[in-house]
Amino acid sequence: MNGTAADRATNVARDDSTGAAGMSGPHATASILHADLDAFYASVEQRNNPALRGKPVVVGGVPDSRGVVAAASYEAREYGIHSAMPLRQAARRCPHAEFLPGRHEVYGQVSREVMDVFHRFTPLVEAISLDEAFLDVFGGERRFGSPEEIAREIRRTVKAEQNLTISIGAATSKSVAKIASDLCKPNGLLTVDPGRERAFLAPLPAGRIWGVGPRTEERLRALGIERVGQLAAMHRADLVRHLGQFGHRLHDLARGIDRRSVSTAGQRKSVGNEHTFGEDIGDLDALLKQLLRLSDEVGRRLRAHELQGRVVTVKIRRADFTTLTRRRTLPVYTDDGGAIYNVASVLMSTEFQAGERYRLLGVHVADFAPEDARQMEMPLFGTDRSERLNAAVDGLESRFGRGSVRRAGLFRPVARVASAFSIGAGKVWEELA
Ligand SMILES: [Mg+2]
Repeated sequence: MNGTAADRATNVARDDSTGAAGMSGPHATASILHADLDAFYASVEQRNNPALRGKPVVVGGVPDSRGVVAAASYEAREYGIHSAMPLRQAARRCPHAEFLPGRHEVYGQVSREVMDVFHRFTPLVEAISLDEAFLDVFGGERRFGSPEEIAREIRRTVKAEQNLTISIGAATSKSVAKIASDLCKPNGLLTVDPGRERAFLAPLPAGRIWGVGPRTEERLRALGIERVGQLAAMHRADLVRHLGQFGHRLHDLARGIDRRSVSTAGQRKSVGNEHTFGEDIGDLDALLKQLLRLSDEVGRRLRAHELQGRVVTVKIRRADFTTLTRRRTLPVYTDDGGAIYNVASVLMSTEFQAGERYRLLGVHVADFAPEDARQMEMPLFGTDRSERLNAAVDGLESRFGRGSVRRAGLFRPVARVASAFSIGAGKVWEELA
């Protein structure tokens, strides 16, 4: 058929430019998000002090000091002030701007809360700085919607909870997502659809590419190159001849190719689930039931992201809002809701006081196993049987929808987990002690 030959030709061409996988980034969907709070420090100051709103605000220090601008509000940017500019220069450009020293504990706290919002959607969050992170939301489709819907929900949540605006770029790779968020600032969302990377980048100045600073830009200009599209059209060998090894990378980036994955190495990682009850609960059995539900959900999410953790934390908030957290480290890594519940229920029961009422429960699992250690763990809690069971439940849920499979039993703490599951009204497994 005609079409076959044409398709094959297209595929060959694409493979030639994007490598064997035929993908420009870690995934074939635009599921890498770059989320960047707008004029972060300045926006926090304006949010906290209404008198600063609508005014040029410069964070970094007093105008006659030797420091540089840490952040400038969009009003200040209209005067040509930008971060890293000497404060004195900023003061010359806009003498009537509000100059503030900056309060890093406050920004740090807000940053943690915003990162927590990201973690509700994926455990794969790579913080670049206080106000900026990459997220990999691949696989979140069924639960949260498309990457673009997730980005929209994150933007809405940050606005609602923090009264701050955040811009998000969505693409198949980190470098394209980062450029997309830069271009849609402030308060924007920009998705670059798979396959559109090169066309998206082509008209941009070469300096938009990561790693291309003013000096490289100058050298490129000497070669007659101003736009990313020109870079992409060059022969790789020519770029390497002019720029050395960086030429290889630049050639890839100009074509929208960047296979780096979102890395959580060395970063705080946890998978958790919290629930605020519609009405405060004072009954231990009712609390344990909620705890089981939360534990199962955490286990399911760990498995969905192929993670296993060994620190289980229970968060308990009383009706009077006093909150306590209790944690315990397991001897092995687990992704099993039953194992998580076993520990969580002990922690919960120990803290429970009769006569007290509770408004919130949370379960978190942290300290994830390194990828290569996972195969070697001897499953102490997660017996072969419960692993098979979990895999079966996950499989059923993907066919019948989430929540279609439920544990039928409620287990008192430290009791052996004897699980029965049901789909709708019908029991599926029994006697799994
Ligand atoms: Mg920012």
